[in-house]
Amino acid sequence: MEQQKIDILSLLPEQLEAEIKAMGAPKFRAKQIFRQMHEKRVFDFTKMTELSKQFQCELNERFYINMPNIEKRLASDVDDTVKYLYRLSDGSCIETVRMVYRHGITACISTQVGCKMGCRFCASAPLGFVRNLTPAEMLGQIYGADAGFPEEERISGVVLMGIGEPLDNYDNVMQFLRLLSCKEGRNLSLRHVALSTCGVVPQIRRLAEEQLPLTLSVSLHAATDEKRDALMPVNRRYPLDELLEACGEYFRKTGRRVTFEYAVIAGENDTPEAAKELGKRLKPVFPNYRPHVNLIPVNPVAGTGFRAGRAAAFRKLLEQEGINATVRRTLGDDIKAACGQLRRDTIESN
Ligand code: SF4
Repeated sequence: MEQQKIDILSLLPEQLEAEIKAMGAPKFRAKQIFRQMHEKRVFDFTKMTELSKQFQCELNERFYINMPNIEKRLASDVDDTVKYLYRLSDGSCIETVRMVYRHGITACISTQVGCKMGCRFCASAPLGFVRNLTPAEMLGQIYGADAGFPEEERISGVVLMGIGEPLDNYDNVMQFLRLLSCKEGRNLSLRHVALSTCGVVPQIRRLAEEQLPLTLSVSLHAATDEKRDALMPVNRRYPLDELLEACGEYFRKTGRRVTFEYAVIAGENDTPEAAKELGKRLKPVFPNYRPHVNLIPVNPVAGTGFRAGRAAAFRKLLEQEGINATVRRTLGDDIKAACGQLRRDTIESN
């Protein structure tokens, strides 16, 4: 029943205006409702007190507000990292992490319930794919992670690196980005957004056409097709040559640098040969700048047998090959769980 109603939190201002107009209400009502949700963070029509009771009832009949509920909130004792487990309207769970950096506060959000991509080192992969998140469910993760913090401590950067493959939920992710950056709404510049993909080549090409100022971050994790095939099934469909060609095209079309994520796994991908191979592959694709790789010591996930490799040593090897590399600072060590682990634990304990 709820599903036949319109998901009002996913609508852009002009779309909401068209819907309100169709109800026979004046245009300014749409602005009021939009402001209530996106500025005042009121997610219940009956609490929008500037609207008449009659109009609140009409809104309730036509729309629903699809705001995720915070089911668990784990705050780190060693730094300001907070991990959220959200419960969605259909009972599904997703995760979000709020991280405090010197330059601002970043939310790492999920884009799907589960994931189809099956990366071997990922806690989400064994649970499979359930469904795509709506734009409201993505935005709601940010609004939830803002709640309880003063204005100056609100989220200032967003990374789409949580559960799910963002480019596999392309249309909803694009609508979410429009909502996130629209002036009447959250007004967050896409320059402060990074979208991470495991390498869905046709969608990388499509994204390049959108000309958005966001940062594209590609999860590479291996420098040869043989290794990458074994770690990431997506590579069998879109092998490295094709993927890197699409990354080069992305840079040429948007002028935005592409960054690479690399989970360092002991004995698997942290050898001098791997560093050489990475240099050989990445440098010709980006002749205008030194490619940048973010190294992440792999998180131990039950059943994989993977151990974190020596990221600092591998960084030195990459520098020798002409690649800039940084080792990602680990935040919230005491609440650390591999991405998707909290959801996995919750599902398995139910
Ligand atoms: S690492 Fe990302 S793309 Fe790969 S299975 Fe996990 S959520 Fe999906």
